[in-house]
Amino acid sequence: MRAGSLFIISGPSGAGKGTLVDRLVTRVSGLWVSVSATTRAPRPGEVPGEDYIFISPDEFQRRIDEGDFLEWAEVHGNRYGTLRSTVEERLAAGCDVILEIDPQGAFQVKEAMPSSVLIFITAPSMSELERRIRGRGAETDEQVRTRLETAEKELRLVGNYDHVVENDDVALATDRLAGIVESHRSCEGCC
Ligand code: ADP
Ligand code: 5GP
Repeated sequence: MRAGSLFIISGPSGAGKGTLVDRLVTRVSGLWVSVSATTRAPRPGEVPGEDYIFISPDEFQRRIDEGDFLEWAEVHGNRYGTLRSTVEERLAAGCDVILEIDPQGAFQVKEAMPSSVLIFITAPSMSELERRIRGRGAETDEQVRTRLETAEKELRLVGNYDHVVENDDVALATDRLAGIVESHRSCEGCC
């Protein structure tokens, strides 16, 4: 059986990655979205095991030591990582897999798996990005500032990505993202 394709989606906090991935999976069948582990606290409304696997810093370190992560990185003062076993199982089963991870993690995976497809999501401007982060209402002023500083750094890495999707209008951006994924899919209906 052919292995699935691996899609890696990055972009600044607040650009709309989660929003677009949610829409993508209802639109394109047979995609599997990896659930990352993190040491960050859950936001109101986030469901453990669905949005993230929330673990303590000690547990995260133990899983690094045991080689459980395909990649991991520290972002905005918290650790985030992709669990190797589930991603490898799904790819081997022929599923197309989506990782929503930061650029540090994206480049680690691209190096290990060069056929993976890197997609960067942007907001139309920094002021719109700030408006979206604040509108989500989940971060303090200090955390918003940290996220905007990280965004400036991440935007400099956009040239290393295979595709860039500007999330101006959600429906149009979903169309663009779906078009990119469809054009790289290994095998529709295999998963
Ligand atoms: P990310 O996953 O990149 O951090 P989210 O998907 O959580 O971003 O989106 C951040 C906020 O912006 C959410 O409140 C979301 O509803 C909103 N949002 C997403 N896309 C758009 C868009 N195209 N226009 C306006 N608001 C958007
Ligand atoms: P948030 O706290 O807003 O959910 O995510 C913050 C950042 O962490 C985002 O850039 C997101 O893409 C990134 N992230 C989420 N999961 C992972 C992961 O498993 N690995 C890496 N490297 N980054 C992740």
